[in-house]
Amino acid sequence: MNYLDGKPVAESILNEARAVSEKLKRPPKLAFLRVGENEADVWYENAAAKVLKKAGIMSESVVLKANVRERPFLSALRKLNRDETVDGILILMPLPESVSVRRVSETIDPEKDMDGISVENMAALYSGQPGIRPCTAEAVVSLLDYYGIDIRGKRAVVVGRSPVVGRPVASLLIARDATVTVCHSKTADLTAVSKSADILVSAVGKPCFLTKKDVKTGAVVVDVGTSAGEDGKLCGDVDEADVKEKVSWLSGVVGGVGTVTTAILALHTAKAAEKRQEP
Ligand code: NAP
Repeated sequence: MNYLDGKPVAESILNEARAVSEKLKRPPKLAFLRVGENEADVWYENAAAKVLKKAGIMSESVVLKANVRERPFLSALRKLNRDETVDGILILMPLPESVSVRRVSETIDPEKDMDGISVENMAALYSGQPGIRPCTAEAVVSLLDYYGIDIRGKRAVVVGRSPVVGRPVASLLIARDATVTVCHSKTADLTAVSKSADILVSAVGKPCFLTKKDVKTGAVVVDVGTSAGEDGKLCGDVDEADVKEKVSWLSGVVGGVGTVTTAILALHTAKAAEKRQEP
């Protein structure tokens, strides 16, 4: 088995982002919009800010109170939409129940929407038109492309149908001419479906959810899932030790899709700044 190592992929994407940033009049800037002080969100934000910096991209954080209501949240978002110094916006998810995701996706400026959550970018994704794609979904395809894995004509199975990961991954694979099946919690006999996959992408969030019996011999497996195992350690959806003799490629939970996702965020921001600074 070979690893779909995200590090060189991220490095190459960050080089591309840096090349774009360097030729601009002012460095690109991303604004994180966060509600509350959730430890994982703050950790992610700091880690992402460091990666962005490597590509010459500045960042700032706008933090709202944990009990924020919809109206002040949307006005903070509109302020970032109008801010001439901000090229991209990333909203830390999930949002509190008081804020409607639908209203947020209608409000964010599609040109600054770095994770493809706006209604305009979602419509573009599902109709195969150009637009800004969700970073994680794009990271999955970039990982496959970097390692020269053919997508066209392949049977792909995506486990998970969330609007942030499963659905956009499926749509990008369809756009690349794969034959795609999407599975979810109500799928009957998931093993029979997942075993038919040449390319299996898992975005469930349950430790060791997929084992040897669920994969085809020689399959390419992309593990998007991240969750805490019984010992508290970070786990993917795929039981790596169990499948490694059977599959041809596998992305690890550390240094896999997540690493590439942040690099894609940098590239989106650099490109958004380039577009905004065009004469
Ligand atoms: P989510 O919204 O909770 O969606 C999980 C999906 O898994 C749902 O579609 C759900 O089906 C499906 N599912 C749950 N139990 C299942 C079962 N027993 N059999 C089949 N399908 C099942 O999660 P998400 O936001 O898509 O994220 C998925 C995972 O990816 C999480 O671990 C998250 O941490 C990780 N993630 C990683 C990155 C990265 O960059 N590496 C980025 C984003 C997310 P239903 O729709 O039927 O409920």
